[in-house]
Amino acid sequence: MKFEVTILGSSSATPVYNRNPTAQLLNCNEKFYLIDCGEGTQQQLIRFGIKANKIDFVFISHLHGDHYFGLIGLLSSLHLNGRIKPMKIFGPPALEEILALQFQHSETVIRYPIEFVATQADKPVQIFENADLTVETIILNHRIPCTGFKFVQKKRLRKLIIERLEADRVPVEYYPLLKRGADLDLPDGSTLLNADYTTDSERPRTYCYCSDTLMDERYFESIKGADLLYHEATFLQDMLERANQTHHTTALQAGQVAIATGAVKLLIGHFSSRYKALPPLLDEARTVFENTELALEGNTYSVP
Ligand SMILES: [Zn+2]
Ligand SMILES: [Zn+2]
Repeated sequence: MKFEVTILGSSSATPVYNRNPTAQLLNCNEKFYLIDCGEGTQQQLIRFGIKANKIDFVFISHLHGDHYFGLIGLLSSLHLNGRIKPMKIFGPPALEEILALQFQHSETVIRYPIEFVATQADKPVQIFENADLTVETIILNHRIPCTGFKFVQKKRLRKLIIERLEADRVPVEYYPLLKRGADLDLPDGSTLLNADYTTDSERPRTYCYCSDTLMDERYFESIKGADLLYHEATFLQDMLERANQTHHTTALQAGQVAIATGAVKLLIGHFSSRYKALPPLLDEARTVFENTELALEGNTYSVP
């Protein structure tokens, strides 16, 4: 099953050096989840050949503009392009009001249903579930209420070994039970052992998105054991004081978070405009956590 994230924007605060503000697109089993939607996200989708109408879920971490200024434009374009299927948006309570005000004053009546779910930044809770995954909030420590999002794949059914089932003429009506892991007692008194006819499904994987935050042990439990951890790394460690003042993290700290929480792989992003070249941020994070990559726009990272 596909479980991968494409970076649409990795800049903090303002667009600079061809870097756009934060946005990511998660593909889980060909369902598309937009995570944050900075200004220019629509253009980035076009640039990377992704159809915006494939997105059915939007998750907004907080109300700093670099994380949601692209949303009204995206929603409006979908309306103009004739979308009719619903869109589900998760974000801070005031986002609903902000969107409503923008639609109201442009006298836009969006022709597709928008279902808004308000997130709360006080304790981590599950906010979404479908057949493929669950989504929980991660409570971050930023200047305004801010949540990250933890996407956890569901355990899949066991895989059938079709050749063996056919060779032994096992009736197809038993297949669903076998997929669920059951041994089968047949009418003739014999037993079919599940292990002979199925193999284990893929291990469920986890993607954690840690948007703007101070490094804070209080959210470590939430992101423990992430297969892929995205963590902001706005500054280098020599700017720690500035990072603390603005409630951001350094690249070194992002590496420390990855180690402390047992991540498999770390992706860093939300780069300050003071860094034209990004390799120093990567090098710094790698001094503590080797399996780190830069969140580069247009790149797709599979959850390992
Ligand atoms: Zn930001
Ligand atoms: Zn912010």
